[in-house]
Amino acid sequence: MEICLAEHAGFCKGVENALKITLQETGSGKKTITLGPLVHNDHVTRFLREKGVDAADNPDELENCTVIIRTHGVAPDILERLFQRDDLEVIDATCPFVKRVQMLARNYEQKGYDILIYGDRQHPEVQALFGWSRRKASVIEPDETGPAINNLSLSSRALFISQTTQQEAGFLKTAGELKKICPELKVMNTICKATALRQDAAAKLASGVDLMLVVGDVKSSNTCKLTKVCREITKTHQVAGAQDVSREWLVGIKKVGVTAGASTPSWTTKEVMVMLEDGNLETGTEETFSAEEGREYRPGDIITGKVVLVEDEQVLFDIGYKSEAVLPRNEVFLEGEVTLKEKYFEGEEIDLLVLKIEPQDEKIIVSKKRLDRERRWKELEEAVESGLTMKGIVKEVVSAGIIIDLSCGIEGFMPGSLVDVRYIPDFQQFLGQEFSFNVIELNRDRDKVIVSRKQMLEKEIAEQKKETVENLKVGEIITGTVKRLTDFGAFVDVGGIDGLVHISEVSWQRVGHPQDVLKVSEQVDVKVLEVIPERERISLSIRQAQPDPWFTAGKQFGAGDIIKGKVTRIVNFGAFVELIPGVEGLVHISQMADFHVKHPSEIIQEGEEIEAKILDINMENKRISLSIKKARPAPRDYSSHSPQGESENQNVTLGDVFGDLFNNGQTDNADKDQQ
Ligand code: SF4
Repeated sequence: MEICLAEHAGFCKGVENALKITLQETGSGKKTITLGPLVHNDHVTRFLREKGVDAADNPDELENCTVIIRTHGVAPDILERLFQRDDLEVIDATCPFVKRVQMLARNYEQKGYDILIYGDRQHPEVQALFGWSRRKASVIEPDETGPAINNLSLSSRALFISQTTQQEAGFLKTAGELKKICPELKVMNTICKATALRQDAAAKLASGVDLMLVVGDVKSSNTCKLTKVCREITKTHQVAGAQDVSREWLVGIKKVGVTAGASTPSWTTKEVMVMLEDGNLETGTEETFSAEEGREYRPGDIITGKVVLVEDEQVLFDIGYKSEAVLPRNEVFLEGEVTLKEKYFEGEEIDLLVLKIEPQDEKIIVSKKRLDRERRWKELEEAVESGLTMKGIVKEVVSAGIIIDLSCGIEGFMPGSLVDVRYIPDFQQFLGQEFSFNVIELNRDRDKVIVSRKQMLEKEIAEQKKETVENLKVGEIITGTVKRLTDFGAFVDVGGIDGLVHISEVSWQRVGHPQDVLKVSEQVDVKVLEVIPERERISLSIRQAQPDPWFTAGKQFGAGDIIKGKVTRIVNFGAFVELIPGVEGLVHISQMADFHVKHPSEIIQEGEEIEAKILDINMENKRISLSIKKARPAPRDYSSHSPQGESENQNVTLGDVFGDLFNNGQTDNADKDQQ
């Protein structure tokens, strides 16, 4: 029997998205409740319940929880009421396509149009849509006939829209009828593309098979529509899951088609496919077998057996039936040289998949391998939906990336660009290593799994950043690593996030460029000056993490001391002299010499070592006044020797007064002073 899956089947984007949003909320610590079942599918409802997500039908039942609005949406008054409640966190997962239809209903109603909705009156999507039309819309059910339409009393302008999951043919036919009674009818085909694609694919498949199985819940509108489409073409059964498939349906069937509604999870469809594949072995010839307590076994069943005998080539299990279930060696994943005897021990209980039943000797053949593989696929599918991190071993390096062993014979491909957040030239170093990663794409029919370590690393980095920012305290001193040097400062990694040390905060000393005092990768102590969590901005200071040299200066120097220092900078009004690293004093131009100095560069040069006298230390303002001229021996006081002959001693000559100066080679300056 050939088994074919429709090209478009199962979860649509809207449902996928709503499920993802809901699962994300389960980790928030607050009770999560969906307003109505998230989708019309019992498997999904059960799955969510296991994850702690319940459904409530009435908004008044909600209390202190996160409430998820499902894909169908709700009327605006309900939404508003929920948003007004302080104890509720409202997450609107209404499908964007449904939202668009709601907006059309609201906008056109406001413009004075009559609103006509093609859909099931009782369906929550239609009820919400009715609310968006301010409860003025008329609903036309798909099987309502001409007279029902003729009874509508319409104004001259009307908008005709559809529930997103209706059949297009019926909608367009009804639009034609409506046009006859409403000349200004605006028809907007709001049937979702996902619905149309699934219906087209189902119809196409149905036309080439002997039997169609439509997987999905009877409460699901779109699944029921798929069944209707297929039934018009071939023999069709709608099943909620593998358990509903009757083997009698398959007798004489050569080709069976499978499709699934937009609310049907892939694992349910897969179970049906596996069941069909396994049943394929004996289709139409085998019986089911009853255990002594009355249980029936069928291919595809999952049973629990207790190991009773381990042989080289098979393991026998007690399953409560008159003969043991047989697990052949080739139906077990055995790693390396491991044998069956090393893997299983007597009395151990394990789950097994019933593979086939041999009627002649009533032997039940089971498989562990297929069950493990099936479960692993389910885990991977869930990981795509929930974003859970998975683990696997790097098995092979290929030109475009890395092959990861996902166990149970499944391999994942990690493209080179998704291996790390940084560029890595050679992946050979990773061979044999265990990697954590996210599953980002999965196509089970093609055995294709795409995984990303980069996504996980990015998430880890983001979390680490958040944690670092939250824990940083202004004023504390921490150790960081210099990551980058720029003209305006240095970026220092303080735990997954870079903070900026502005150039003025790099050192107590005057710094021309951060690279003059820092090196990339160097470890430095930094003081946290400012943290702005929402902008992830951190300001740091290396300078302030070190002792203030002014304290040392305050102890080491006093007014009147003669110091030696280096001229660091010359300005028009004087020169700065470094006494010790980080402490500079100013020699004012008037303190450079005993004579008039036009510019400090006439006396000293940058980089020169000089002697100066400390005139004053102002610790409060961190200022030191220096004098070069007072550090030199005091010149003789000639004030009493008047060259103009006004002194008491009229007999003193010019030679007597200036003789020393001439001898010291200061004739020019002395002349200038005279002038
Ligand atoms: S069927 Fe279409 S409209 Fe409905 S939830 Fe899915 S994507 Fe959205």
